[in-house]
Amino acid sequence: MIVIVKPEASAAQLEQLLNRIRELGLTPMVSQGAERTVVGLIGDERLVSDGVLESLPAVEQVMPILKPYKLVSREFKKTDSIVEVRGIPFGGPEIQVIAGPCSVETAEQMRRAAAAVRAAGCRLMRGGAFKPRTSPYTFQGVGDEGLDFFREAADAYDLPIVTELMDVRKIDVFLEKRVDVIQIGTRNMQNFDLLKEVGRLNVPVILKRGMSATIKEWLMAAEYIAAHGNHRIIFAERGIRTFETQYRNVLDVTAIPVLKKETHLPVIVDPSHAGGKAALVAPLAKAAIAAGADGLLIESHPCPEEAWCDADQALSPEQLTQLMGELRRVAEAVGRTL
Ligand code: PEP
Ligand code: MN
Repeated sequence: MIVIVKPEASAAQLEQLLNRIRELGLTPMVSQGAERTVVGLIGDERLVSDGVLESLPAVEQVMPILKPYKLVSREFKKTDSIVEVRGIPFGGPEIQVIAGPCSVETAEQMRRAAAAVRAAGCRLMRGGAFKPRTSPYTFQGVGDEGLDFFREAADAYDLPIVTELMDVRKIDVFLEKRVDVIQIGTRNMQNFDLLKEVGRLNVPVILKRGMSATIKEWLMAAEYIAAHGNHRIIFAERGIRTFETQYRNVLDVTAIPVLKKETHLPVIVDPSHAGGKAALVAPLAKAAIAAGADGLLIESHPCPEEAWCDADQALSPEQLTQLMGELRRVAEAVGRTL
């Protein structure tokens, strides 16, 4: 059960509500979002009889929600939520494309990458300064300094930045460098301590699907973030593990309409990590838009063959520009703009 708190409720009225919930033998879980405060009830909800909470001054609405994921569910909010990143809307009629290199390498590489991302017409830029690599002996990311290269290059082209957070100890640096969107990668989708901490921030989060996670597990991971107060969540499908070995992962296109039905939050797709090959990016990106995705996360590099990480799947500036043109037509065909 979820209690929606009136925007004008005072701190004393909220406290009164929490005390009443405790008196009933339940534990309140307050999710203080930037736009609204909601209180989840933990315990046996049968203890709450009709009307006992509704009459309190702080309460706008009491909603029984059957799904285990509450705040992120369509049951909780019927209309699509728009997650804005510096005024750029995710989840509306406009499709957003985020592009950039797998990893931040040098200041010069980031400058050239940002110029290409902007020239292609993408509105946000990606790049990892901290990389979750399978082998401890491969490049692990340039670290804190990379965030400076990234910030400078992206600012020159007015591009908000998207970058992966792996460690709670880096949150202060991310805030200091004004990271616009925090990416939680596939390997950390169920790192619950990390999810709780980003849940305490007022920074949009891209939550990638765990490579072997079910849709329900993914929704529950998002619920962790929302329950701790951060309601600005964007889901990103990036391909899942199957028996197939011909390509890196299998893009779960079916997940797009299923997720759009289950959640009011935006859903984007990363065709780069799904296919793992540059030649697969365009067809998978088109399929994603056709299936209802709200945006794309694409790897591009000023010189793909020289990329320090994921060189095989990076698009060149020319390929990115061409793809944007093709995607525009697919978007129009499904009644969206790009
Ligand atoms: C990435 O986007 O750089 C990345 C590592 O992706 P994933 O977590 O999906 O593997
Ligand atoms: Mn990558």
